[in-house]
Amino acid sequence: MKIPPTLSTVLSNLFRKPATNMFPKTEPVPTPDGFRGKLIYYPDKCVGCKLCVTVCPAGVIEFIPEIKKVTFWLGRCVFCAQCVDVCPVNALEMSKEFLLATYDKYDDNLRWLKDEEIEEMIEAQKSK
Ligand code: SF4
Ligand code: SF4
Repeated sequence: MKIPPTLSTVLSNLFRKPATNMFPKTEPVPTPDGFRGKLIYYPDKCVGCKLCVTVCPAGVIEFIPEIKKVTFWLGRCVFCAQCVDVCPVNALEMSKEFLLATYDKYDDNLRWLKDEEIEEMIEAQKSK
């Protein structure tokens, strides 16, 4: 009897290794070059030009006039990297980090320049 092509494909696949990635038991699938993961901010490089605030489509970035830096609420970020492209001093970078799940939208991991850091910088500015 002739085996139909679909059945013969099914039968041969039965004896192949599964093509599943067993994450989290295994490492996740590697990210490609140019992957846009969690945004990284280098405040020391930032010159407070506000260009990133202007281009961000998601209202992630807030300017802090007292210290001429910005703070990021990454729970709103859509990973478009427009802020990275526009920053004139390379103070921003997209990392490869994508495991960002949290129970709290104000999680410290989703914030650049946290409140206490901002306060410290303001105090340091005043004492100059
Ligand atoms: S990556 Fe896009 S959405 Fe995220 S902070 Fe930058 S401009 Fe805003
Ligand atoms: S664009 Fe760059 S230098 Fe300008 S405020 Fe944003 S992070 Fe700072």
